Amino acid sequence: MSILVVGSVAFDTLKTHTVEADRVIGGAATHFALAAAFFAEVKLVAVVGTDFTDQDRGTFEGRSIDLSGLKTAEGRTFRWGGEYSENLSQRTTLFTELNVFEKFKPIISEQFRDSELVFLANIHPDLQLDVLNQMHCPRLIGADTMNFWIERTPTELAQMLRRIDVLIINDEEVRQLSGEYSLPRAAAKLLHMGPKTLVVKRGEYGVLCFRENERFASVSYPLETIVDPTGAGDSFAGGLMGYLAATNSMSDEVMRQAIIFGSVMGSFCVEDIGTRRVQRLDQAEIFERYKEFKELTEFKGL
Ligand code: AMP
Repeated sequence: MSILVVGSVAFDTLKTHTVEADRVIGGAATHFALAAAFFAEVKLVAVVGTDFTDQDRGTFEGRSIDLSGLKTAEGRTFRWGGEYSENLSQRTTLFTELNVFEKFKPIISEQFRDSELVFLANIHPDLQLDVLNQMHCPRLIGADTMNFWIERTPTELAQMLRRIDVLIINDEEVRQLSGEYSLPRAAAKLLHMGPKTLVVKRGEYGVLCFRENERFASVSYPLETIVDPTGAGDSFAGGLMGYLAATNSMSDEVMRQAIIFGSVMGSFCVEDIGTRRVQRLDQAEIFERYKEFKELTEFKGL
């Protein structure tokens, strides 16, 4: 099955205590597509400006990523700047320049409307809804959002939530959206708002997944060095949705495996700046790390 993703393609400015980098290709849809393309065919829907060169487009080439939905508009590409605390656990947004995204109206081509899986990366919930309204009848819809939209567009966000199957957000966003500190309580509330599956990303503490009659907890991969955490969440979502597309199943067991493949992709992403590590990744490394995850968390019963 193929996945349609809509979201940002960006030039990022990144600052950690060891790294400073400017005009790094990023954006939620970029990180998602690069990760998901290891598992399934990806159709990318986004907009860039006239400053986005052929070399920048090359980031996606030679992979199973259809770029016919990546439009160029007059103006500058979306830009985002972020700075991390010394231990990399906190991120401050330095600036967000919407640029060509300000007037972006995604038009889904006829051949894209049949995609079976849709991922609505973090963008304005109105745009997310607009995309859903153009799709024929996707079998599975996943979505992300962030504090920015939770605060500014709660009504549109609630409408979007009613239409999706899997919500993939971080623990802070879960708490903010539900008004509950306890994650199980928050999950119960969010599962009432629409999605049948809630996947809570907890950074270095791993992932919690809630469904009506299922809970799953997983660790994050114990890396010695993290170079740049940017894109980890989107790479995670890419691995997860990619695996669901590859298996054509949504069973509890497959969802558990998908969460581990997501964690594998997120762990590779942070090993280098921007998309660099995922760009030089191969399938064998992905399966090797999946096995390591299995060994890490296996224990004998009573
Ligand atoms: P992550 O680290 O997975 O949460 O995602 C980081 C990516 O999200 C960066 O590459 C940014 O370009 C992108 N990003 C940051 N803020 C926004 C926003 N308001 N809308 C869309 N994309 C964003």
